[in-house]
Amino acid sequence: SFEALPLAPKDPLFGLIAAYKADTDPRKVDLGVGAYRDDNAKPWILPVVRKAEERVNTDPALNHEYLPIAGLGTFTSASAKLMFGAENPAIRENRVTSVQTISGTGAVHLGGLFLAKFFPRPENQKLYFSNPTWANHGQIFGNVGLPTGTYPYWDPSTKGLNFTGLIEALETAPEGSIILLHACAHNPTGVDPTREQWMKIAETVAQKKHFPFFDCAYQGFASGDLENDAWAVRYFAEAGFEMCVAQSYAKNLGLYGQRAGCFHFVTHTEETKGRILSQLEILQRSEISNPPAYGAKVASTVLNDKALFREWEDNLRTMSGRIIEMRQRLYNKLVELGTPGGWTHITKQIGMFSFTGLTEAQVRRLKEEFHIYLTNNGRISMAGLNTRNVDYFAEAVDKVVRG
Ligand code: PMP
Repeated sequence: SFEALPLAPKDPLFGLIAAYKADTDPRKVDLGVGAYRDDNAKPWILPVVRKAEERVNTDPALNHEYLPIAGLGTFTSASAKLMFGAENPAIRENRVTSVQTISGTGAVHLGGLFLAKFFPRPENQKLYFSNPTWANHGQIFGNVGLPTGTYPYWDPSTKGLNFTGLIEALETAPEGSIILLHACAHNPTGVDPTREQWMKIAETVAQKKHFPFFDCAYQGFASGDLENDAWAVRYFAEAGFEMCVAQSYAKNLGLYGQRAGCFHFVTHTEETKGRILSQLEILQRSEISNPPAYGAKVASTVLNDKALFREWEDNLRTMSGRIIEMRQRLYNKLVELGTPGGWTHITKQIGMFSFTGLTEAQVRRLKEEFHIYLTNNGRISMAGLNTRNVDYFAEAVDKVVRG
């Protein structure tokens, strides 16, 4: 019987969402959830997605049959090209294995499961992720039995990257460790390495024969430019690493609940690729049998049509542009109010999130006195800000910072 089963804690982020929903104050602001909102604080169906859905839904050949185990072929091959670039040697030499997954989470999970089973760890090597990282990484790798460690990332004194600490950690990790890297728009900090820093990371990873595992949840959503946001992944693939990538269409196509994603494995040879795929398919079959079709059909329609693709790029610029504008407005208002502390990190950080540097006590006051909801670590989802609430938020921050 299960009387002694311990009660598990609720997921903190989903708890925050529920608390926000239950709040009846008209001033309430949701800065918790990492989902895009338009200037009216409403979810946004991308216009290009509406068009693609129309095509999918009116296709006379449409049916709801199962997809193959590895997913929709037109989706996975276009996804690989989007991630690595059509001209990347890994693509040209046919060395990328791609399997459709349950969005980015499923891709991280499938990769973790595969590595837990097959990655050679003669000295009990671990997977290292940044401190901090996306809250789900720890439990995903824990669940598949892959031991984890962390490398330094956030420097509270500069509210930027602790690059020296990061490199030192890569140097001291046992040779042949797995290094998890955020491809762009690091969650939760919004701090990315520069290109020069990425090159040094690649050099260190190569020297130590580490295995890079990229988590790419924000391609095109961060800077509005799909190529720019994929730069680090493409650089590593061009440098000839064996590596893997988890890719999500939740944010960049706004397909959150449709769970469209892809897992890519880059091998040194085409022959190894076949072996990898055979094992991934066995794992996939036992986990989910085959992936969900609808979101992949919609994404594939956008990815494989030149005109729709261009329209998607426009939609991406709309989302990233609005977020960048909110960063600037928030910064300007804090400067105008003379709020104590430096705030340049707000505009320097990139993507969905900003790590404000607010303390847990200040976060609590924001919630209790101002009905503003953000995670305890001081992370705000920039997409929750709009022209109507950004000043209110800045004024509230000003008050809690002054104490
Ligand atoms: N990795 C990171 C770093 C993320 O921020 C997210 C989205 N919150 C994901 C993976 C996966 O999200 P999804 O499963 O919705 O694609």
